[in-house]
Amino acid sequence: MKLDRILPFAKILLEKAVKSGDAVVDATIGNGHDTLFLANLVGEDGRVYGFDVQHEAVTATEELIRSNGLSNRVTLFQQGHENLSTCIPQDENGKITGAIFNLGYLPGSDKSVITKPNTTISAVEQLLNVMAPEGIIVLVIYYGHPGGEIERDSLLEYCNQLDQNLAHVLEYKFMNQKNNPPFIVAIEKR
Ligand code: SAH
Repeated sequence: MKLDRILPFAKILLEKAVKSGDAVVDATIGNGHDTLFLANLVGEDGRVYGFDVQHEAVTATEELIRSNGLSNRVTLFQQGHENLSTCIPQDENGKITGAIFNLGYLPGSDKSVITKPNTTISAVEQLLNVMAPEGIIVLVIYYGHPGGEIERDSLLEYCNQLDQNLAHVLEYKFMNQKNNPPFIVAIEKR
């Protein structure tokens, strides 16, 4: 297949937005794979701020980052991403160039811990305030689990009404795939 699949496309978008030395956000660290990807992307002078409400996610990611020798460029918070503007130092305001959300629940973990519409939207709004122009927020929207469709619909409604003078909003989705595959909404701050 020549078309970019969903998760590779998420990385392509982040690679476009983020350069060495930048600050970025992993809003749902989960198993830490995106945190590791971002830590490599920002280089030794950059910084990754990672968020997850689950202790296991934070400790697993801490270990993954440590074993890759990248701890000095990653800050993890066991905090909801809806608190990101109080967690991220003020002097990063206007400097964040990329953010990713992998929504839903963490496979192999507690399926009752899911991302929720209001907190996800609050985090997106806070990010839009603190990001640099041309910074990109990538939402990977999973909706096959209980509660997933509600979050999907709320996010689509929120993103549809974002003023085009404030942000470019892209939907990237395979329309004819079965079993509720994830899709992307990307928001580029103007
Ligand atoms: N569905 C994806 C993985 C999503 S992981 C896949 O299949 O690959 C989602 C992560 O978000 C979980 O680790 C969960 O603990 C975390 N999470 C839930 N609510 C959150 C919040 N308010 N802030 C930050 N992380 C949250």
